[in-house]
Amino acid sequence: MKALINIDYTNDFVAQDGKLTAGKPAQDLEDYIVNISKKFHDAKDYLVFAIDDHKENDPYHPESKLFPPHNIHGTDGRKLYGKLEEYYQEIKNDTNVHYIDKTRYSAFAGTDLYLRLKERDIKEIHLVGVCTDICILHTAIDAYNLGFDIIIHKDGVASFNQQGHEFALEHFKNSLNAKII
Ligand code: ZN
Repeated sequence: MKALINIDYTNDFVAQDGKLTAGKPAQDLEDYIVNISKKFHDAKDYLVFAIDDHKENDPYHPESKLFPPHNIHGTDGRKLYGKLEEYYQEIKNDTNVHYIDKTRYSAFAGTDLYLRLKERDIKEIHLVGVCTDICILHTAIDAYNLGFDIIIHKDGVASFNQQGHEFALEHFKNSLNAKII
């Protein structure tokens, strides 16, 4: 079994009026991410949604000093973007689907992701979502340190920062031994 980790593909990070949007490059991933999610789900692989989760006016969260409020719990901004939300609603109760409220860039930080992957003896993880050089990068670094094989889908990741996006793709390949497909 392998796992697809869907990271932060929400309205606030993707939609034109999102609170911290990566804009068009992120919107362009929609069909790819939905299709690859279906492929994993249909093959009975593990489908994880690791989604940034914030409380309103949280003075203790380190991102409060860096970014405007975004992905606030219970808001439409935190819902998955477009067709991915529709697809998620169809499959959310299936046993091979797992939704994680993540509170840091990495999907492993403070979550049960590592335990879930170990329970299923999963060694290969695939990453899609946003932003390539922030949450995808931090998740990939943790995955590398934990010994997972990493696959990055280049048509499934984007950033508001094109230079950062390109740096991260090189870093995945050259320093984290990831496959870029
Ligand atoms: Zn955040």
